[in-house]
Amino acid sequence: MAFSFRGGIHPDYQKERTAASVIVSNLPQPETVVIPLSQHIGVPCQPLVKVGDRVVEGQKIGDCQEGLCAPIHASIPGIVKAIEPRWNVSGIKVLSVVIENDGTNGQIEIEPYTGEVTDVTPDQIIALAREAGIVGMGGAAFPLHAKLRTAIDRKVTSVIINGCECEPFITADHRAMVEYPRFIVTGAELIRHCLGVDDVVICVEDNKPDALATLRATADGTGITVLELPTKYPQGGEKQLIRAVTGREVPPGKLPMDIGCAVFNVDTCASLYRAIYRAQPLIKRVVTVSGSAVANPANLLARIGTSYRELFRHCGGFTEEPYKIVTGGPMMGTAQHSLDIPVVKNTSSLLAFAPRGGEEAFPDGDTCIRCGRCVSVCPMRLQPTKIYENAVLDRFSECAALNVQDCIECGCCAYVCPAKLYLVQAMRMAKSQISREGAKK
Ligand code: SF4
Ligand code: SF4
Repeated sequence: MAFSFRGGIHPDYQKERTAASVIVSNLPQPETVVIPLSQHIGVPCQPLVKVGDRVVEGQKIGDCQEGLCAPIHASIPGIVKAIEPRWNVSGIKVLSVVIENDGTNGQIEIEPYTGEVTDVTPDQIIALAREAGIVGMGGAAFPLHAKLRTAIDRKVTSVIINGCECEPFITADHRAMVEYPRFIVTGAELIRHCLGVDDVVICVEDNKPDALATLRATADGTGITVLELPTKYPQGGEKQLIRAVTGREVPPGKLPMDIGCAVFNVDTCASLYRAIYRAQPLIKRVVTVSGSAVANPANLLARIGTSYRELFRHCGGFTEEPYKIVTGGPMMGTAQHSLDIPVVKNTSSLLAFAPRGGEEAFPDGDTCIRCGRCVSVCPMRLQPTKIYENAVLDRFSECAALNVQDCIECGCCAYVCPAKLYLVQAMRMAKSQISREGAKK
């Protein structure tokens, strides 16, 4: 039985632009890739190569011996042209390895595992997940090996595989579920075996009936449940998903593992499958390229380090000059200042919006009219209006008392606010200020 979560919204999903677009997996290799050495939560990698080195596809080019880290691999064969700070998706410069393609098609050669899921040990799964550089691909980019280890230590009993993909426009996970369900289901079996749990549920919203049908057919006989959930944003939020599947709430300030749950994205499962059964590190991912300014929206299998410019070019470029480029979805994504930013492990989408067509920029913020809409849609049961009032006056301890740290930055409050207040920006500011003050103490 599926439960629901309180709040949420029903935005115009616009997924029909790419929902039926088969993943384009034969893009020509880029001439150059820019691969940031920090693509995960944790310690940035140190380069393992130097300028002038020749690398092959899949070769490890960055790692770190201490701290939370996921290795980085070359996504094309070629020559290391530079190791220098380059702009990343967050608008900061991070140390990156620039590789120029030498057209040689060289690949790393490792024998893949060929045995049964139940014959590989949890330690081997964790080691292979680390070696392949797998991170959470649904957005958080938390290193998978560390999450698996923590889940074992915390004795997690319930695993949820997240195939909701509730952000408008994005269909990358949707197409992955339709086109390679076996990778996802086997990846889920590997996680189940690694954690020693019985209870594994793959969740898909009911606006993806083809994905539900394919996954159900594939999972038949495995003991894995495929659960249909009602379409509602942000159904794919971890805490909302746990509520929908188990009926349990993650208390304020707590994490899913505190109540025995762990959530993994469907494409993370597919990457784990590839790491073990294909010996492939994480060097490619599916990216939805869409939005009202894109000539031919599509789902592209892109190499890590490919520039946004190149992916838009594969989609026929722009029909008109976009006023806004966003990566990661219109609700929770990040606006971009340049097309020369590279795809990284958690880049699920690239969106370009035309100046008209329902995606205009918000007018400047006005005054709260106390309508209460933000409170009624907040899936975390916060009081956005009160937090906003305190945040703009720098009263961050009041924001903390109102549990602003639980804000998942879903944007529901801003979406419904008739005054168009910058509610999410206020939440982010308060959260980062509180974190900074906590770190100082
Ligand atoms: S306060 Fe945070 S969690 Fe609540 S609706 Fe706004 S952005 Fe979402
Ligand atoms: S939705 Fe906007 S106007 Fe309404 S109470 Fe919340 S902040 Fe105020």
